[in-house]
Amino acid sequence: MNITRPFGDTLALIGNTPLVRLAGPSAAAGCDIWGKCEFANPGSSVKDRAALWMIRDAEQRGELKPGGTVIEGTAGNTGIGIALVANALGYKTIIVMPDNQSKEKMDTLRALGAQLVLVPPTKYSDPGHFQHVSRRMAEETPGAVWAGQFDNVANRKAHIEGTSQEIWEQTEGRVDGFTCAAGTGGTIAGVGMGLKEKNPEIRIALTDPHGAALYNYYAKGELLAEGSSVAEGIGQGRITANLEGAPIDTQYRISDEEGLVWVERLLREEGLCLGLSSGINVAGAVALGRELVAEGRANPQVVTILCDTGFRYLSTLYNPEWLASKGLPVFDWLKQGEAA
Ligand code: PMP
Repeated sequence: MNITRPFGDTLALIGNTPLVRLAGPSAAAGCDIWGKCEFANPGSSVKDRAALWMIRDAEQRGELKPGGTVIEGTAGNTGIGIALVANALGYKTIIVMPDNQSKEKMDTLRALGAQLVLVPPTKYSDPGHFQHVSRRMAEETPGAVWAGQFDNVANRKAHIEGTSQEIWEQTEGRVDGFTCAAGTGGTIAGVGMGLKEKNPEIRIALTDPHGAALYNYYAKGELLAEGSSVAEGIGQGRITANLEGAPIDTQYRISDEEGLVWVERLLREEGLCLGLSSGINVAGAVALGRELVAEGRANPQVVTILCDTGFRYLSTLYNPEWLASKGLPVFDWLKQGEAA
């Protein structure tokens, strides 16, 4: 058993997350599927990494000064990461968020001390989109910086220099494939770039939810969205700066229903409570594992990202009424809970 050495400060708790073999997905794929436990970060999501790197980058560029304010437009997890890192470094946080995100995320942001600005969800071309509102607020607020996670490549740098190196070491260089979905694209692009630098044969697959445009972009060169998804934090309609040059070899499109199967199975069979983007990622990892097995690779090792904790979605993914209202299947044991 590896004992983690003590850390000298709380920010050092970000990253260095465990990698765990997932039994059900491995059996389904016929090879080893590994999950990177990003819910183990202090803010319970992968976005703590981007938050730390963007804030450190703003400090190094001299834009963020002592007592300053970090402003960001976010679906929630990046805001949670920013609020924690900003608290640790003495900055204030203002978060602009679409008002259709989970109540848990809003309550969490307020509890962490962030000032929360809710805006109606709208298309990116609308000046009222949360990203544009947050950018304008940063321009108008003295001492403020805009994190700008979508086009700020300090985001993917967190994964080039952090996540991908950890995956390489944790698999002792025996990784054949990596896949995850894209929100900003920082994770898929950064891990992809970092792993390709180690070994260009590692297959990098984008797992896209319905309602996003990237599957068609990588398959046919056309940014075209079809369908819809209730997954929070993923689903992108444009090539962000973080996605530019991402080494994507192949792509899968995964429905919410397919992702929910793994959310339920990982909880019931393996004791992991995750959000829907993790379930979608695992479904993609099973598809990638099967593809590598079919090509005759001997016991390929596939890694994906377990992006955030399911505790953030108790009022949605784990709520029978909410699932039914979205026309999504209700987990068996939630139905039993109702009857008991
Ligand atoms: N899953 C969740 C729950 C997220 O909040 C995010 C971040 N938006 C992602 C996945 C995607 O990560 P990235 O922004 O690095 O593409």
